[in-house]
Amino acid sequence: MRHEEVVSDVTVVGGGLAGCCAAIAAARQGARVALIQNRPVLGGNSSSEVRVWVCGATAHGTHHYARETGIIGELMVENQYRNPDGNPYYWDLVVLEAVRAEPNISLFLNTDVRSVEADGPEHERTVRAVTGWMMGSEREIRFTGPTFLDCSGDGLVGFLAGARFRTGCESREEYGESWAPEQADSTTLGSTILFYSKDAGHPVKYVPPSFARDITRTSIPERRIIRTDLNGCAYWWIEWGGERDVVHDNEEIRDELQAAIYGIWDHIKNSGKFDADNLTLEWIGAVPGKREYRRFVGDHTLTQADVLGQELFPDRVAFGGWSIDLHPPGGMYATEKGSRHWHPHGNYHIPLRSLYSENVTNLWMAGRNISCSHVAFGSTRVMATCAVVGEAAGTGAALATRRGLRPRELATNEIDLVHRAMVRADAALLGVENTDPDDLARSAEVQASSTLRRLVVDTSAGTVPLDSHLGMVVPVDPSLGFVELLLDADSDTTVDVELHSTGEPQNYVPLQLERTAVAHVTAGQKQWVRFDVDWTPDRPQNAFLVVRANDSVSVHRGDSAEPGTLFFRHRTPPPEEKYTEQWREWKHILHRESLCLRLGSPTRAYDAGQAIGGYARPYGGPQMWVSERMEWDERPWIGLTWKEPVTFGEVAVLFDDEVEEDLINLHHHRTPFDVMPGLVRDYRMQAMADGEWVTVVSVRDNRRRHRVHRLDETVTTRRLRVLVEATNGAPRAHVVALRVYAEPR
Ligand SMILES: Cc1cc2nc3c(=O)[nH]c(=O)nc-3n(C[C@H](O)[C@H](O)[C@H](O)COP(=O)(O)OP(=O)(O)OC[C@H]3O[C@@H](n4cnc5c(N)ncnc54)[C@H](O)[C@@H]3O)c2cc1C
Repeated sequence: MRHEEVVSDVTVVGGGLAGCCAAIAAARQGARVALIQNRPVLGGNSSSEVRVWVCGATAHGTHHYARETGIIGELMVENQYRNPDGNPYYWDLVVLEAVRAEPNISLFLNTDVRSVEADGPEHERTVRAVTGWMMGSEREIRFTGPTFLDCSGDGLVGFLAGARFRTGCESREEYGESWAPEQADSTTLGSTILFYSKDAGHPVKYVPPSFARDITRTSIPERRIIRTDLNGCAYWWIEWGGERDVVHDNEEIRDELQAAIYGIWDHIKNSGKFDADNLTLEWIGAVPGKREYRRFVGDHTLTQADVLGQELFPDRVAFGGWSIDLHPPGGMYATEKGSRHWHPHGNYHIPLRSLYSENVTNLWMAGRNISCSHVAFGSTRVMATCAVVGEAAGTGAALATRRGLRPRELATNEIDLVHRAMVRADAALLGVENTDPDDLARSAEVQASSTLRRLVVDTSAGTVPLDSHLGMVVPVDPSLGFVELLLDADSDTTVDVELHSTGEPQNYVPLQLERTAVAHVTAGQKQWVRFDVDWTPDRPQNAFLVVRANDSVSVHRGDSAEPGTLFFRHRTPPPEEKYTEQWREWKHILHRESLCLRLGSPTRAYDAGQAIGGYARPYGGPQMWVSERMEWDERPWIGLTWKEPVTFGEVAVLFDDEVEEDLINLHHHRTPFDVMPGLVRDYRMQAMADGEWVTVVSVRDNRRRHRVHRLDETVTTRRLRVLVEATNGAPRAHVVALRVYAEPR
């Protein structure tokens, strides 16, 4: 047996998506990172060992322009390119390659951390070291350093260090949470094992083992969905252990879950109720996917009110959007529904103060063990949210270590540092502006070859009936005088339009009625009908226009859509749908299509200035520069002009990877594009020298959002431009942000 010592700036325990993103973020901030994972593969519950699909703030399309950027965004976009069919092994590779690409990360697979050295009084503990055992190698490794991140899911490191934590459910009174039980209790969400089946092409028999559960003696056949075309995470409801101790009873829980799967498979194969002769079991998990265990107590505990109220924390560093999704502790044997969901109006914020221990001075946490109540955890627990939290905690850990700050000092006194670093890294932040004084683009004048100024979709590709209310979101900057719609009417009638504001800038729901307009329509086809809404909000924002139902009217639709617009059809969900995952009052329609419309005021929503400073994702508007169509502006460009020459060594550009598209790593649904069409494909960066444009960067076949160009030699110029030569399919050039720095990072 060997004993080894590893010294790092940041030690990350747990290689799930939270840990991987934390490690990558810290490494990119320049920290030397040890990433310790007790399994042979990375990815935690998302890995091929467990196969949970990665969900996040889009909530399967409930929320709009909500897909995460940052490190998890890079992983999802790359996975879409390499693995559009959702093969779990290809996903493992995407995650592993991203970690291996970071020279500052030392990766320790198969290394189980079992002991922690920590000292200090209960209210001020300090972790000194963690020690892991590398299985199969007989190596005992002691990891030391100033800063530790517990991304182990279960929270063993923090527990052994003496960090305060909670398990189970808080009482309703404690945080005033209507979804908490009256009395606190120790129940948690249970664990799950999944399985995949396949068609063998010939009959395959199945002899169940003696320990298979007879599920006909349970409520499963009646209460849960069993279908031969379902696989993997579609069987998320095979859940058990919420009334046990999910960690200490892990072995018993695994046995019960596997017995249930062998019984479910017996039911599918041998009950005669399914067309399953040729089906065989392809894979069954050996590692129970754990949903919930310890939640550490940080300086802020995120609650139901924070999630549903979309609390705008000054130290917001990540966002979520999944519903509060709670399951009965009895899991698959419970007679209640397998889950109930409470959706916020849109994405909500997560503060840095929930990502470090309140009583261990150098311990950060990320993933399912962050500081939140059981109810709020019902939402934060999904993996893209765990990943963005990981990126935030990793960034915080690296910055605090470099500056010798405690996490609390960083979160309360130096949050601008964190925000600037995260903005520069293109992390998933909502409502945090680029105010970085190092970004030279912010002091330049910005121009573009052309700009989308007037929203017009006027070529009809058919009609949609106005038999229920239709909704549309359009950006308003600075005002909207009128909107025209292309209508057919069977008889003379009137059509009513309402204009609503959406509450928070990240919401796409009609929350506050601002204006109404009515138009008389005579019987006839293809009439442009004008609705005078005349709205000038106090700041640029989206308007949610409701066209009220009228059975004698149809609205024409166009076969393309302009960026930043969305369309919906209203439905009144039946009472039994309340608190379900599919709950939606306004259902998104016309994906990548549009209603035929003409907006009556030119807009500044797509101006070149949107790409400089400001927000780098949709927030009350698209927040990017959009050119005229490339048939008219064949080589669109966005450029910067400085009063005096500037010298720079790094230019970063953010392209539009269409955060409206709900990507998924495994097989929940398939997105038809391997590369997002809105991404610029071919481009040049050119600097003006002696009156001539000189190309300093030339890129072909780009498929990424965030391109950072560190120049071999610094450039001194008064003018710089990004010249777009081709997109990956979008008819216009889109640039989300253009940033220029004297010093490469
Ligand atoms: C069946 C199931 C269905 C779910 N459904 C969804 C869903 O549809 N979509 C979604 O996004 N989320 C879903 N979730 C939730 C989500 O999977 C978890 O909340 C998420 O995986 C937590 O991420 P994490 O990185 O914190 O932890 P994990 O994914 O649990 O990763 C932690 C990692 O740390 C390692 N580790 C633990 N202890 C140690 C140690 N002592 N030393 C070294 N390494 C250690 C573990 O092996 C693991 O790989 C589901 C969870 C389950 C179980």
